[in-house]
Amino acid sequence: MNFSFDIKHSEGNSLARVGTITTPHGQIQTPAFIPVGTKATVKSVLPEAMADLGAQALLANAYHLYLQPGPDILDEAGGLGEFMNWPGPTITDSGGFQVLSLGVGFKKVLAMDAKTFRRDDVIADNKERLAHVDDEGVTFKSHLDGSMHRFTPEISMQVQHQIGADIMFAFDECTTLHNTRRYQELAMDRTYAWALRCLDEHKRLTDERIGKPYQALFGVIQGAQYEDLRKKAATDLGSMQSSGQSFDGFGIGGALDKSALGTILTWVNQILPADKPKHLLGIGAPEDLFVGVENGIDTFDCVLASRIARTSAVYTMEGRFNLSNSRFKRDFTAIDDECDCYTCTHYTRAYMHHVFRGKEMVSATLATIHNERFIVRLVDQMRQALIDGNFADMKADFLGRYKHRSGQASN
Ligand SMILES: [Zn+2]
Repeated sequence: MNFSFDIKHSEGNSLARVGTITTPHGQIQTPAFIPVGTKATVKSVLPEAMADLGAQALLANAYHLYLQPGPDILDEAGGLGEFMNWPGPTITDSGGFQVLSLGVGFKKVLAMDAKTFRRDDVIADNKERLAHVDDEGVTFKSHLDGSMHRFTPEISMQVQHQIGADIMFAFDECTTLHNTRRYQELAMDRTYAWALRCLDEHKRLTDERIGKPYQALFGVIQGAQYEDLRKKAATDLGSMQSSGQSFDGFGIGGALDKSALGTILTWVNQILPADKPKHLLGIGAPEDLFVGVENGIDTFDCVLASRIARTSAVYTMEGRFNLSNSRFKRDFTAIDDECDCYTCTHYTRAYMHHVFRGKEMVSATLATIHNERFIVRLVDQMRQALIDGNFADMKADFLGRYKHRSGQASN
């Protein structure tokens, strides 16, 4: 089957562990941060540069690749990695989050204060709701050309098999913190039924597509901020079997109140099978990565590092700041003098300031290389600290120095 997860080291006093995920396209040493290449490209950076900066795998988005260029093109190319010239492991998310969020300003709503309002048709101001959920699946309007499409668990599996990533996610209904408790329960029931259908279709496609590398399927744990719902989801999906198939790993997804992140991860990771990998979907701010690792998360993905880089925001050991700020005009030091990335070893803050002010395309490339390296390396350092037995000291040292200079990091 060519997919496995081996735990090399477990902490005695927390859920943290060190392991190796083996896929047909190589291994991922965990804990690991997986950079995002939404449309089979990490914006502005070559895959070769991503390998050089230490990325062990890349995560692309099934929704975007379904709309453009179409999953059949990736299948014909030999799969996602072959298509984008990335020889290492690849991951796709199910498209569930995007079909429900794009076009409706859902992300904006996700980021709002949980207490602001509560209703089940939450959308941002001046946006029309473009997705409709029923028990069978989701009908949605393309954010590209307005054409109508439908995703079901079966279609998501078919699309992800054609894209051909080493790790895929089951199709789930992603909710927000603003949905009512009653709606969260309905969405959980749907996600449960859809998970069974994903396992069945995954098994059928695996058997049908003989000769293709095995693609692992992760179930997604929803349940928002509710302890009983999160625990039920972990219990149900953790032991779920259908067509002789169970999940190869798990994603923790959905609405997560940052302040409750550690608590929620403890609820689910104490229940989910310990010997299977756990991926935290869409979380990547430095302080959150520590919470994830110490609560049993093996892999992370997040667009934040590259997205903020394009706006001139960079991570450093001293916190996050914007290179376009005029105080960097004559600063001929590296972005972060402790960073070993290509940008920091070849360019100065003054040069970065200049290319951002001039809106030169290379600004995005150089800043993205730095930010991705910063986050990949931070999680690598956490892994090493776990092996060396000094995770608590490493965490205290990092968080003691790292502080936000440009406000709260957010997705
Ligand atoms: Zn750097």
